[in-house]
Amino acid sequence: MASSALKASPSQLIQDLLKTPEVAESFRIFEHQADAITDEQIRICSIPSSPFGEQERAEYLSRKFLEIGVSDVQIDEAGNCLGLFRGLSQLPVMVVSAHLDTVFSRETDFTVRRKDQRLFAPGISDDGCGLVALITIARALVETGTKTSGSILFVGTVGEEGEGNLRGVRYLFTEGPWAGGIESFISFDGPGIERITNRALGSHRYRVTVIGTGGHSWGDFGIPNPVHALGRAISRLVSYPLPRDQRTTFNVGKVQGGASINSIPSEACMDVDLRSCAEVELQRLDAYFRRSVHEAVEQENAARRPGDCPLVLNVDLVGERPSGETPSNSLLVELALEATRTFGVAAELDQSSTDSNLPISRGIPAITLGAGGTSGCSHTLDEWYEPLNRDMGLKRGFLTILGMVGLENSDR
Ligand SMILES: [Zn+2]
Repeated sequence: MASSALKASPSQLIQDLLKTPEVAESFRIFEHQADAITDEQIRICSIPSSPFGEQERAEYLSRKFLEIGVSDVQIDEAGNCLGLFRGLSQLPVMVVSAHLDTVFSRETDFTVRRKDQRLFAPGISDDGCGLVALITIARALVETGTKTSGSILFVGTVGEEGEGNLRGVRYLFTEGPWAGGIESFISFDGPGIERITNRALGSHRYRVTVIGTGGHSWGDFGIPNPVHALGRAISRLVSYPLPRDQRTTFNVGKVQGGASINSIPSEACMDVDLRSCAEVELQRLDAYFRRSVHEAVEQENAARRPGDCPLVLNVDLVGERPSGETPSNSLLVELALEATRTFGVAAELDQSSTDSNLPISRGIPAITLGAGGTSGCSHTLDEWYEPLNRDMGLKRGFLTILGMVGLENSDR
């Protein structure tokens, strides 16, 4: 039973799971119901789900969870859709998630089009294939009568993309009804079966706004210029001494301001993205950036004429994703590596910015896995997905999950 199984090596755990009838039967579901799984993916991806507009898709997912027969189905205050597969003990819980949102606006046409094996729609892969993996795995657990030791909380999260700033998963771990009780976390995000994301790429995003009085370029010369202040700040930022070994990046992605060539602007703003694979480097870059912006504005103000109003600076943090790592020798990563090997595939540990960033930063083992199949043109209106070998992605995820929560009566 689970207690002895927990002491087994990850490879032994996976080998034992492969011998159980529950796993064999679930694998048959993944193989033989391939068309039904794809039809479900088409249904869920046809429901529009823009950033901050995930509700309809969340409601659909909760209806699915009820139909499958998982318990405690609810949409939480953040808008995440939750459903519990109850094990012998309710706690601790492993979260298995996929994100409901896409990067596309409300006006986008989410209709799925099919051409031979290929499905076309915004978000069909990111994260349509993850969402259908949740539904399929929950259904397999229930239909095969699988009994687990720990419980599995299935979650469709809101706010994974861009300005969503991980608000769904943040709520789940900090305020939601399960906060404090979650022991491990898997996110299915996108296609493939090689990738195991165990390192979280952290980022800070800022909108910097500088406001002045503005004036005539000749007549009022000397009034502090918001664009010049931003120029000074950007010049400092680009001379940042980057660390040698920890990849760290900065980008001024958008600059706006001014009205005409011969006017001193009354306002200017810029959007800045700071990233690092190491939290300590991200903090160092962040401090340097903030200091640079303040000093740049002070310098511009220092040159103003007596009686001129100084520039006003606003630095708003508009996005924050923490960094961190689930160690490659942790049980969760080793199980995922072992499960990938089972299908004759060489796994790749990688780093990315996903829902896993949040649990990883809180020291909770978390990884992001591809949900099988292939895709292209992600985050564009031409996004496509092909379910070729999707079953391998589902099987790999399924084995990893069962390895973590433990199968009752799996000792044989
Ligand atoms: Zn995604």
